[in-house]
Amino acid sequence: MSSRFRIAVDGPSGSGKSTVAKILAKEYGLEYVDTGAMYRAMGLKILREGIKCEEGPELDEVLAATKIDFSDGKITLDGEDVSELIRTQEISMAASECSALASVRKKLDTIQKEIGRTKDVVMDGRDICTIVMPDAEHKFYITATPEERANRRYKELIAKGQDVDYDTILKEINERDYNDTHREVNPLRKAEDAIEIDTTELNIDQVVQKVKSAIAIADC
Ligand code: C5P
Repeated sequence: MSSRFRIAVDGPSGSGKSTVAKILAKEYGLEYVDTGAMYRAMGLKILREGIKCEEGPELDEVLAATKIDFSDGKITLDGEDVSELIRTQEISMAASECSALASVRKKLDTIQKEIGRTKDVVMDGRDICTIVMPDAEHKFYITATPEERANRRYKELIAKGQDVDYDTILKEINERDYNDTHREVNPLRKAEDAIEIDTTELNIDQVVQKVKSAIAIADC
C-alpha cells in the first residue's frame, strides 16, 4: 500500500469544498493548497500589468517573470502576500478568464504537480483529481445545486454587510459554472474514480464526516 496520503478535491464555485478541505488538512495534519488562489493571483498580475487576457508574446513575457507560491495558508505573488487582495469580484472574474488560457494552466499545473509530487497535501480546485494529482490516494467531487450555492454565497455576503442581490449571485454562479465546464483546456468534470458528495442538504460537519468515512473505508 502507498505510504503517501494526498486528498484531491474538485467541484464548482460555492460547493463548500475549500471549507471542507481546510478542516480535513487540520484533522489529518496535512498542508492545504488552494489552487483557486493561484489563478486569482495570476488574474491580479494580468490586471496590474494592464495586458489583455489572451495568448501571445506579452502574456508569455509576464508568465515567465511571475512567481506564484501557496504555503502556510498564504498566497504570494512575486514575494508579496496577496491573500486579502485577491478576494474581490473583479479578481474572481479575472481568475475565471485567465484560467481558460493554456499557457496559464500549464504554468500553474507545473507548480501544483510539483507540490503534489513532494508533499502530502489536501489540494482543492477544478482539475486536481483529473490533471494535477490523478494519482492522489483519495479523490472527491463536492457539489451542490446552483440555487443552494447562490443561497450560501448570498448569506455570507449579507453577513459581511455587503449590499447584494440573490438573482445576480445566481447568475454569476451559473456563468462561472459554464466557463469552468466548457473551456477547452482541462474543463471541470468529475474524475471517474472520484467520490461525489452532493452537499445541497448537508451542513459542513456532515460533509466532513462523509469524506472521513470514505477515507477510513478506503484505508482499511
Ligand atoms: O476556487 P476559486 O473560486 O477561488 O477559483 C477562482 C477561479 O480559478 C475559478 O473560477 C476557476 O475558473 C479557476 N480555477 C481553475 N482551476 C483550478 C482552480 C481554480 O480553473 N484548479
